[in-house]
Amino acid sequence: MKKPFHFAESLLNWYKNNARTLPFRNEVSPYAIWISEVILQQTRVNQGLEYYRRFMASFPNIKSLAESTEEEVLKIWQGLGYYSRARNLHEAAQQIMSLYHGQMPSSYQELKKIKGIGPYTAAAISSIAFQEVIPAIDGNAKRVFSRFLGINTPVNTSSGSVLIEKAAFSIIDPFQPGNFNQAVMELGAMICTPKRPSCTNCPLLSECIAYKENQIEYIPSKVKKRVVKERYIFYFVFYSKAEDMVQLIMHQRTRNDIWKGLYDFPSLEFNEAMNVQKVIESEILKQQFPYVKFAELQSINGPSKHILTHRMLWLYFLVYELSVMPHIENKNHIIYTLHEVLGLPLPRPIEIFLKEFIGKTILV
Ligand code: SF4
Repeated sequence: MKKPFHFAESLLNWYKNNARTLPFRNEVSPYAIWISEVILQQTRVNQGLEYYRRFMASFPNIKSLAESTEEEVLKIWQGLGYYSRARNLHEAAQQIMSLYHGQMPSSYQELKKIKGIGPYTAAAISSIAFQEVIPAIDGNAKRVFSRFLGINTPVNTSSGSVLIEKAAFSIIDPFQPGNFNQAVMELGAMICTPKRPSCTNCPLLSECIAYKENQIEYIPSKVKKRVVKERYIFYFVFYSKAEDMVQLIMHQRTRNDIWKGLYDFPSLEFNEAMNVQKVIESEILKQQFPYVKFAELQSINGPSKHILTHRMLWLYFLVYELSVMPHIENKNHIIYTLHEVLGLPLPRPIEIFLKEFIGKTILV
């Protein structure tokens, strides 16, 4: 394998002159670096920035995050997806308060012991905040290293990861590890993009093997993803309207499944497409929600498609008006006023549905 002697120098020069101005750049606070890294995983920078600002305004330090409730954290996170990240941040802040006297540990190894902090985030925090010489290898970095070095081994296998990690250790600038890691990420985000990389503007062009060998569209290679599972969810939107007050029956998701800790509506779920009329007339509906017999079906909405990692959701919303709110046995089904519902942490499709519901049903 050719040793890339000029990699770090070329990259850092480029970074100095071309890095985007982002609020967490030049941050030395490990807490701010941690939050920005977690928010930006799986999220576009433009969307992530707004969440970063809101999160830091609501929870400016570890103590305030640890002392908040999980629901408050999920509410700030609402719409960003991958909600386990928010739950982990909250739990991790409490762990840091109790085990590390409220101070983030400074070493890569110690950071990895904290809830939700994996190798990439630990490396980013320890290198950027504490100058530990350790490469932070995310998807962007894998793409840059594998293309530059012409690594064909799939990057989502352990052998591919080991190859890239070894290469990164041999290339990282030991005097500026934090800047080096940020520069690799920036190059991957701005120049060495997954499709149509801007090679002519790349500081690594002269030594890039994928470019020289016309292999860019094949590198990084990956083993195939898991098959997407389809789920069919029928939501039952039970509401009552009396004078100025609208109430809804909500459901808190407590199981280890998508959207854990968030609120949606009572639902029935199937693994295959179902006839809506059959669901409406089904015995299971009457058993699960006995008050449906006192309710008037007002509208059927959907299916709308919602894509999550490895899952495709087909969502139906069946809106029922109740003349009075019933007594409810299920402890996860809770009656809230509409005003209270809007303050709950909600999955994105529920939030979107509620906006339409308010316009169509409540304001008429
Ligand atoms: S030359 Fe092209 S493929 Fe190679 S590292 Fe730069 S942008 Fe990526």
